Amino acid sequence: MHLDLSPADLAFRDEVRAFLNENLSPELRRGQRYTTGIYPEPEISGPWQQALRRKGWLVPMWQEEWGGTGWSAAQRFIFESECTLAGAPLVHPMGVRLVGPVIQRFGTAEQKRHYLPRILDGQDYWCQGFSEPGSGSDLASLKMAAVPDGEDYVLNGSKIWTTHAHHANMMFALVRTSTEGKRQDGISFLLIDMDTPGIEVHPIPTIAGDHDVNQVFFTDVRVPKANRIGAENAGWECAKYLLEFERGGGIFSGRLRSQLKRIGDAIDELRAGGIDVRADPRLVARFGEVCADLDSFEMFELRVMGGLEPGQNPGPVSSILKLRASRMKQAVAGLGVEVLGPQALHWSEAPGQGDSLLPLLVPDALNSRSFTIFGGASEVQLTIIAKSVVGV
Ligand SMILES: Cc1cc2nc3c(=O)[nH]c(=O)nc-3n(C[C@H](O)[C@H](O)[C@H](O)COP(=O)(O)OP(=O)(O)OC[C@H]3O[C@@H](n4cnc5c(N)ncnc54)[C@H](O)[C@@H]3O)c2cc1C
Repeated sequence: MHLDLSPADLAFRDEVRAFLNENLSPELRRGQRYTTGIYPEPEISGPWQQALRRKGWLVPMWQEEWGGTGWSAAQRFIFESECTLAGAPLVHPMGVRLVGPVIQRFGTAEQKRHYLPRILDGQDYWCQGFSEPGSGSDLASLKMAAVPDGEDYVLNGSKIWTTHAHHANMMFALVRTSTEGKRQDGISFLLIDMDTPGIEVHPIPTIAGDHDVNQVFFTDVRVPKANRIGAENAGWECAKYLLEFERGGGIFSGRLRSQLKRIGDAIDELRAGGIDVRADPRLVARFGEVCADLDSFEMFELRVMGGLEPGQNPGPVSSILKLRASRMKQAVAGLGVEVLGPQALHWSEAPGQGDSLLPLLVPDALNSRSFTIFGGASEVQLTIIAKSVVGV
């Protein structure tokens, strides 16, 4: 594997750095740095999304016709790593990374013309309505009924763990349109306007006290059939395609590295207050282990991404990326708690009010528990790896 950057890649890296210097304001950097939930709030991710859109760098992985950059894997890696190392906010992925590619692949010409520009300019903020109470890992058992009635479907049921549903004006959802035959063959993929009468969003506080996830209730909600992506009962195909992007469509190592740096900064903060945790050899050894793991994960990620054509997604190997990235996330966040030691027993539900990084470490570690659950639990990823990658 060739790891040296070519002169063209180095020039590209300099261009990215210059763009970040010019466009990444201290407020946006701070917004990302003090986020402990899954995604930054829209007032942080939104302005950054617009800066990237103006530059034409918002959707590198899309088809060029719709705004894709046609970048090589090396360029994608450079771009994402530079953004995360500079502390840029995470762009809310639901539109850009998840439903956008599905609409491009399975949508009608009219659906593409309507939805794709709205994702780009941030008019639509999306949430994902896949999981239901009792249907998470076993997603194909989902029950939310969509009954045809004239030009519409009438929806009744509930979706759960819906991240940022309280901010979203649109949801992409899997609904049951048939109970005949194989369960996967009775599911359709619908785009739902969250302002439709009959939709109620109820918050579910996370273990750290953040408001990231919700339960969404549907009572006689009318959704036009024109909002269906793909054929009726063919939604499973869209869902499988989308999940590959959810599990492996991004570059995680840069983000993990910047979180590790945040812990390094917290160590400096403690030192300034008279506590030098670097004197603890066990902690230093643990730090070394996590750094080595991160290096190896980064190499693996580069190898997978290096094999992709522009616009291509990684396929079932994305389960390996998802499994390793989520475990790394917990290892990095766990280090933060070890750095705090007994101080970790006290933590606040509203960190990020002052300048100290220390109050962020415990909420970050608590929220990191969810990384091995959302997007498909680790046990489920292991089964996919065994069946589809290893072939047992
Ligand atoms: C913070 C957070 C955000 C989320 N955001 C969204 C969202 O925006 N949209 C959305 O649709 N969903 C979302 N989810 C839901 C997430 O996808 C599900 O929680 C996940 O798929 C697991 O489903 P479950 O919670 O029903 O657990 P279950 O499926 O009941 O699993 C419970 C345990 O059993 C294990 N298990 C289950 N089946 C198997 C098996 N076959 N073999 C071995 N072990 C198994 C699991 O690994 C897990 O440890 C989110 C979840 C979290 C925690």
